[in-house]
Amino acid sequence: KLGPRLVKDALFTYVRPATVEEPELLAISPRAMQDIGIKQGEEETDEFKQVVAGNKILTWDEEKGEGIYPWAQCYGGWQFGSWAAQLGDGRAISLFETTNPSTTRRYEIQLKGAGKTPYSRFADGKAVVRSSIREFVVSEALNALNIPSTRALSLTLLPKDRIVRERIEPGAIVARFAESWLRIGTFDLLRSRGYRGLTRQLAEYVATNVFPGWSSLPSRIPEDTITESTSSTVDPARNVDLESLEGPEELQENRFARIYREIVRRNALTVAKWQAYAFTNGVLNTDNTSVFGLSIDFGPFAFLDNFDPSYTPNHDDHMLRYSYRNQPTIIWWNLVRLGEDLGELIGAGGRVDEDEFREKGVSKEFADVLIKRAEGIIERAGEEYKAVFMHEYKRLMGARLGLKQLSEEDFKGLLSDFLDTLEQLELDFNQSFRKLSHLAVSDLASDDQRKEVAKRFFHAEGITAIGTSLDDATARLGEWLGTLHRRWTEDNVTDEERQSAMKTINPKFIPKSWILDELIDRVEKKGEREVLDRVMKMALNPFEESWGGDAAEEERFCGDVPKFNRAMQCSCSS
Ligand code: AMP
Ligand code: MG
Ligand code: MG
Repeated sequence: KLGPRLVKDALFTYVRPATVEEPELLAISPRAMQDIGIKQGEEETDEFKQVVAGNKILTWDEEKGEGIYPWAQCYGGWQFGSWAAQLGDGRAISLFETTNPSTTRRYEIQLKGAGKTPYSRFADGKAVVRSSIREFVVSEALNALNIPSTRALSLTLLPKDRIVRERIEPGAIVARFAESWLRIGTFDLLRSRGYRGLTRQLAEYVATNVFPGWSSLPSRIPEDTITESTSSTVDPARNVDLESLEGPEELQENRFARIYREIVRRNALTVAKWQAYAFTNGVLNTDNTSVFGLSIDFGPFAFLDNFDPSYTPNHDDHMLRYSYRNQPTIIWWNLVRLGEDLGELIGAGGRVDEDEFREKGVSKEFADVLIKRAEGIIERAGEEYKAVFMHEYKRLMGARLGLKQLSEEDFKGLLSDFLDTLEQLELDFNQSFRKLSHLAVSDLASDDQRKEVAKRFFHAEGITAIGTSLDDATARLGEWLGTLHRRWTEDNVTDEERQSAMKTINPKFIPKSWILDELIDRVEKKGEREVLDRVMKMALNPFEESWGGDAAEEERFCGDVPKFNRAMQCSCSS
């Protein structure tokens, strides 16, 4: 019997998924199948269905007792700013790793909701259908929006399960996968227990296994890396062009510092994308911050409906710690925790050689020196974080506005005014950008035309309900459209070019909370099935104009939020 327990000196525990009765495969993600390298149609086989339900362990030979046995990871975390000690995979069990031969991408396949593990604490190791549908859809939707995310392969219903939450609910299993399931919380736990050896071992694993190739990089970083990495010619995530450059001694970095920077950069990119698409995770604890820079752990997440920067989808987040506007700050807060976890290792860069480190690593004086140096590296990584974040955010927002490039002036003027306007007129964030994508320069030539266009962005009754007159609202948005008109004219790009570029960056479909709620209701209570595939098709191809299904339903799912469903919040009981 597995009860709550502390798992010491280890990063994982071997554990088997619970056997389940009559699992029903509800849906798969065809994109996920393709990305892992599983043939279409394989999902029809009994083997596939049993594997994704946890009934069959593909890599373990029962008779011989050999092969790859499933495991659950041990981690801790800072939750809402406080240390929460050991958490771990309480209801997720990893099955095996697999590499797609054509892309050479390696993924760790995992089942969520597959039963208790040594990390379940007092919970049941199960997941309800409601939260599983949400995770299944949003993982794939984020990926389709080019936002790094853990992925979802399949959704299985467990009709025999009776899970006690706010009510009694059936269970479900999501088969999911990621390049890595390591979290900042994995390192946090090791530090909290003083496991210096394991910290080093894990950091080395990350260097050689998670980010292959990094251990062979040169060890010096240049003074001007920050500006280097944010110029448009360098991909900010992999600015590895450090070879020829020499840096001052105190900035010399070892491979641990480089891993740290890589993790910082990846997360900066991902949070920039969240901000650009108004996605809020809702629970950005360090156990929910990925070492690989993926969006991870989908609890009370949401895409913003109307643009309200202080919105949090988390019903229990009274301090608004995890609100939309706080996300970049919070991810950095989490990354500083990681820097501290790695402090001794990253501080040993430059003048300290490995032997000296091994020898003196224990003395208090020496630790102080290392920590001082680590502080410098963390601070520098903070500058880099800001630079990478801003670069990516501006790149995306410029493209979303249909500009060749977002200048500093555009950033402070055009973009900022648009966001203020969206906020004050309570306009839908993503829909508004899609609406801009259809416009021609000539649609915005005169004041009257601009006012006509402005009216397409809102409903008269919606505008008066927020205490603004229709005239004021159209004047305000119309004036902004005038600035946009001037900028588009300056750029001198054909309408066709700009519109098609904008339609590849401004999605028509976003899986908003109200849509997920309707989906849950129809699948769980009304027994519908096909609607899942239809919504998945939209989520997997969010930039399309239509999806060949029920046209009225598609338009409704891309349309306005039903009033009573605006800015919903979730509790954490999933
Ligand atoms: P979260 O709030 O989703 O980040 O979860 C925090 C911790 O609680 C993680 O270690 C989860 O694995 C664990 N957890 C959440 N729900 C359950 C559950 N139903 N059974 C077991 N562990 C759970
Ligand atoms: Mg978590
Ligand atoms: Mg969770």
